[in-house]
Amino acid sequence: MERVKVGDKEFTISISASHIQQRVADVAAQINQDFKGERPLFLAVLNGSFVFAADLLRHITLPCEISFVRLASYQGTSSTGKVQKLIGLTESLKGRTVIIVEDIIDSGLTMKELLAMVQAEAPKQVRIASLLVKPDNLKVDLDIPYCCFKIPNDFIVGYGLDYDGEGRNLPDIYTVVPDSL
Ligand code: 5GP
Ligand code: MG
Repeated sequence: MERVKVGDKEFTISISASHIQQRVADVAAQINQDFKGERPLFLAVLNGSFVFAADLLRHITLPCEISFVRLASYQGTSSTGKVQKLIGLTESLKGRTVIIVEDIIDSGLTMKELLAMVQAEAPKQVRIASLLVKPDNLKVDLDIPYCCFKIPNDFIVGYGLDYDGEGRNLPDIYTVVPDSL
């Protein structure tokens, strides 16, 4: 589908499912190489990262674990910059190699807060894997070694990302058509 309607807005395709799959496999291969001999704990941030995390994990050949956490900070089509607390963390992170799995880093404020909370648990090391990054909108300094796509500062949906709760099921990634905003 070239164009889709999600809620009251029109979206046009920007990254195809096959391109996503190819980049996810590339990033997983990089992680497999960088963490040889380690047993990483992937920390997937719900809801947005559930599709990316599921695909990424199937390409990981290291012994590993995954845990799902939640940290909501976003409503509608612009980032609020407000961050709530971390829920769902049951594993001890002490001494662990932690790879945070995010759907998208926009201002980076959410990730900065999350990193601080994860660091407070005394892990051995923490790395960030994000499906998408909007470099032009980053407001904080973040090292993002594993990123599938750098995208412009437009609102996107699909492949786990929603617009007001809908659109997560789309296999491709779509960008909002500006005049539908
Ligand atoms: P940040 O704190 O980096 O500004 O915001 C990160 C969060 O904002 C993401 O986890 C995601 O929930 C949401 N977000 C940012 N940009 C987009 C976007 O283009 N589309 C969707 N669906 N969510 C976005
Ligand atoms: Mg997210």
